[in-house]
Amino acid sequence: MGAQDDLPNLLNDCVHCGFCLPTCPTYVLWGEEMDSPRGRIHLMQQHVEGAPLSGPMVEHFDRCLGCMACVTACPSGVQYDRLIEITRADVEREHPRSLKERAIREMVFQLFPYRRRLRALRGPLRAYQKSGLERLVRRSGILERISPSLAAMERLAPPLGRAPRLPGRVAARGERRATVGMLTGCVQGEFFPGVNAATARVLALEGCDVVIPRNQGCCGALSLHSGREDEARAFARRTVEAFESADVIVVNSAGCGSAMKEYRTLLADDPAWAARAEALSAKTRDLAEYLVELGPRAKRRPLPVTVAYHDACHLAHAQGVRSQPRALLAAIPELTVREIAEPDVCCGSAGTYNLFQPEAAADLGDRKAGNVDATGAELLVAANPGCSMQIATALRGRGAGIAVAHTAQVLDASLRGLGRDALISRGS
Ligand code: SF4
Ligand code: SF4
Repeated sequence: MGAQDDLPNLLNDCVHCGFCLPTCPTYVLWGEEMDSPRGRIHLMQQHVEGAPLSGPMVEHFDRCLGCMACVTACPSGVQYDRLIEITRADVEREHPRSLKERAIREMVFQLFPYRRRLRALRGPLRAYQKSGLERLVRRSGILERISPSLAAMERLAPPLGRAPRLPGRVAARGERRATVGMLTGCVQGEFFPGVNAATARVLALEGCDVVIPRNQGCCGALSLHSGREDEARAFARRTVEAFESADVIVVNSAGCGSAMKEYRTLLADDPAWAARAEALSAKTRDLAEYLVELGPRAKRRPLPVTVAYHDACHLAHAQGVRSQPRALLAAIPELTVREIAEPDVCCGSAGTYNLFQPEAAADLGDRKAGNVDATGAELLVAANPGCSMQIATALRGRGAGIAVAHTAQVLDASLRGLGRDALISRGS
């Protein structure tokens, strides 16, 4: 049965109770029924019954972050994640976008899933950040006038340092407990190389041989969550091949891990790949999920720092990973974990959302940054590169001096006894 055939049944699961409304970020922002999960499901129903995809309809679908807060909140088990993915694929097929929109979207989808292209951008971007041009361009507002999406892209880019490359294998420290494959990711690999280095070190210190296949590419998360199904399937097949021999695949980016756990659905109708995709999904683990399953062996050294932990939507809602990162952080001596108000409300990053819907994303980013600031924490911990960029930008915008790190970097600092300054004085 194809995805389209599933749609009417999936839609029928919704009893229109509205329990999901208060958890939906766009409904929270605007209070518009059609910008709520229930409203969007109503529009999907109209489309299934034959209504063409009108401009306003597409706008309501485009404004959905795909954050999955409604999936967690729904008492009837409505699979909104499947619904919006199928609908987005319909939009891609049936709705003609303006030339400007098409150009921006093509630029994003021809850049972010390709590691070599991102790497080529690093040098010029670093020079731009260091030269003082960055301040000049921002003050002039020129990018905003050309395209708010371009301006958002520029604003969100993290300060870039050197990017050390990981070897193909990092040996376990002490007696080997496991061999794991590691996904390095596109944005994570090029914009946050320190997170990957920390991930490999933590796994090795916990007794894992870490294998980092050279032939891995993009996992397809951005394409999958944007309705570009064929592209997502091509990325998924390549990832399946690259990691076929691994027993476990550890992923440190919430969006990538969530997409890889979805390969079983994405390739379910492809007889040549369905079983292989199922196997890959079954052995994919988020880093925190895996470390808790493995159990601690390395000595945790004190880290006297107060952290606020941010639930990435694709970790908490899509993968159900909430307790594991908190447990890992809480086990570090002298570290205090504070909870952020409205933990289920998305920060506005949501894959490409902050590029294509920059205004709504900025409002949500500011809301999240305000809630982070109110915790009084010195460090925000998040396990998704998109969230880190989004919240770091919003925190800078508020003038809040809160550093941002990945769970792996906090564990790495504790395991190696680096002290709090390694986290607090480091840029994102
Ligand atoms: S999606 Fe779930 S919570 Fe929302 S209206 Fe439908 S049944 Fe109710
Ligand atoms: S995925 Fe998020 S933004 Fe979209 S309808 Fe559900 S709660 Fe709202």
